[in-house]
Amino acid sequence: MSDAFHKKIKTALGDSQLRAALDANSERRLGAYYRAFQSLPESFAVMRQRAHAMRARTIADLDRYLDEFISNAEDNGLIVHRAADASQAVTIVSDIAQKHGANLIAKSKTMVSEEIGLNHALQAKGINVVETDLGEYIVQLRHEPPAHIITPAVHLNRSQVGHTFEEKLGLPYTEDVPAMTAAVRRVLRQTFLTADIGLSGVNFGVAESGTLCIVTNEGNGRMVTTVPPVHIALMGIERLVPTLDDLALVLALLPRAATGQKTTVYTSLMHAPRQSGDADGPNERHLILLDNGRTAMRGSPLHDALLCIRCGACLNACPVFREIGGHAYVDNRGRSSTYPGPIGSIVSPALFGQSEFGQLARASSLCGACREVCPVDIDLPKLLLRVRAGGIGLDPKLARKKIPFLVSLLMRAYTWLATSPRRFAAAQNVSAIFGSLLLPLSEWVRLPSFTGWGYSRDFPMPARQPFRVRWAALEKSSNLNEFDLKPGDERPTPPKSDMSGGSTSSLAAVDRRQLLEKFITELTALDGTATLCRLDSRSSSRSSQLLEKVLTLLTEKGVESVQLWSGEQLPPDLLSALGESGIRISGSPDPHAQAGITGSLAAIAETGTLVLTSGPGRPLTASLLPDIHIAILYSEDIYLNWSQVLNLKKVREAASAAFITGPSRTSDIEMTLTLGVHGPREVHVFCLVNDELI
Ligand code: SF4
Repeated sequence: MSDAFHKKIKTALGDSQLRAALDANSERRLGAYYRAFQSLPESFAVMRQRAHAMRARTIADLDRYLDEFISNAEDNGLIVHRAADASQAVTIVSDIAQKHGANLIAKSKTMVSEEIGLNHALQAKGINVVETDLGEYIVQLRHEPPAHIITPAVHLNRSQVGHTFEEKLGLPYTEDVPAMTAAVRRVLRQTFLTADIGLSGVNFGVAESGTLCIVTNEGNGRMVTTVPPVHIALMGIERLVPTLDDLALVLALLPRAATGQKTTVYTSLMHAPRQSGDADGPNERHLILLDNGRTAMRGSPLHDALLCIRCGACLNACPVFREIGGHAYVDNRGRSSTYPGPIGSIVSPALFGQSEFGQLARASSLCGACREVCPVDIDLPKLLLRVRAGGIGLDPKLARKKIPFLVSLLMRAYTWLATSPRRFAAAQNVSAIFGSLLLPLSEWVRLPSFTGWGYSRDFPMPARQPFRVRWAALEKSSNLNEFDLKPGDERPTPPKSDMSGGSTSSLAAVDRRQLLEKFITELTALDGTATLCRLDSRSSSRSSQLLEKVLTLLTEKGVESVQLWSGEQLPPDLLSALGESGIRISGSPDPHAQAGITGSLAAIAETGTLVLTSGPGRPLTASLLPDIHIAILYSEDIYLNWSQVLNLKKVREAASAAFITGPSRTSDIEMTLTLGVHGPREVHVFCLVNDELI
């Protein structure tokens, strides 16, 4: 371990504020993780194995899937570039910026851009790059790298953030998180509206359709891919899934593992740039596919790290990460590792150099917590050991030959002991005797300081009795809860091995009323509201109740201006009713509109999600720019799950589709939930239903 790394670890361990922030993050995230996996439609074990197999198949046949993906994306109208390394990727972005005379780029969070040092490179060319994810914006203001791949400002408390805003933005100091978030919303709104280019990452590319998929909670991802005239998407070549059904699978796992949500607030699917007649969207969409060492990883001992879907769960679960945080992960010259934590300790040496970053794999207890939570079941401890043994260039056969004779002998002896319960129990009894002899010495025997023990925790003394003996006693007394938990503690329940089963059952088999009720339950649990409106018996699309209830809501909220879809896209008479009410109406993107009124192509009951597609008369900005989003939904358009909706022809054919689950939200400052970061603060759904569903 280099001096630089050692020093960073020591500094982090001495920073009690940092460790409190990391502890809070880990506990909240892991609690939410376990709760979220309870709601999986199938067994967690089955779904993660299916995801592992799908990702393994994709990486094994990556060249074919890439060809398919690129061909479909180009047919859809995307301009596809390939970058072998960081400098090529930076050159492509700056060439596009130069061609469009761009001075300002609004950027949503992308770890690939961190990997290639994009911000510094563009800023050196005089192009202003503004991060728009709240956490990323905070660390950009502080000139720091992200401390976590999902929660960039995880290392800061509200007071530090308040002082940063005061110093860098001239805002009055406050520790009120909603007030800070509202201030940033105002500042960044101008960036979205005036940016020449929007730049995003890509969570998944879908080979069979050429689709780009990005997931965000705040709405900044939707902003940068919808509002500026040019969109550039940066994607690592490994982030592919073969089909839309595979996309549905990873979209069930990623948000649960990353933030403990069933789904993120916004899932955006992008197939094409703005089409003729479309109300909004970028005129050009570029996709940059970055290799930067990924091809070299394929077939290497670290191959399986390419299966990663960057959820960050292994960071939250890692007992080392939660003590030292992301900024402590540095190379032997003290340069930050873009990717920290367990996955970072594998990916960073593989992509940026074993000799510089190989030391990161030493910062692991190999406890296996990272593998346990990984939604695609990557054997991270095994890969960490491979990094320790030489990393990407390691030939596993050679590595085995190099094992010293004594180590090999001891391992064989241990294997002999551990593979027989009786022998193992006998060995435990023998070690318990040594343990009881050592115990009285524990008060005055200390390990030498060079061992590193003692910075943050005591060296655990051997237990008085073997685990088996204690377990047997425990079982006998049937007192498991008291053993594990302190009074008042919440017990995280592990993912169920078998859920009720059958969310994949056909739509016909599910009662429409149940779908409606499930949709409303999920939507309202996420701070949306649902109002039922009876369809008039003489018309299947008219509802006098709808007009009355929408106007009542607008009056209650004091709304004087709305952006809305065209009359053909909404129930008859709504437009004229609004016009008669004196409310100012706009059909094109309007940053001053207080409310946006849209239809909804479909909805997903399992997650309470609305599905909107772009097209003539359907500006997606109506569901994004205003503070209040009002959506009109016919109850017959509610589907059970994501797979059914992702495969709808209208979704596949739209230039863009937005999947919206409740109001925009963030927990980037001290894990405090705040609504309305960049997208609407309120989402109201008016469901048009027939008599029998009322
Ligand atoms: S290795 Fe697994 S747990 Fe870690 S970020 Fe990747 S997918 Fe998530």
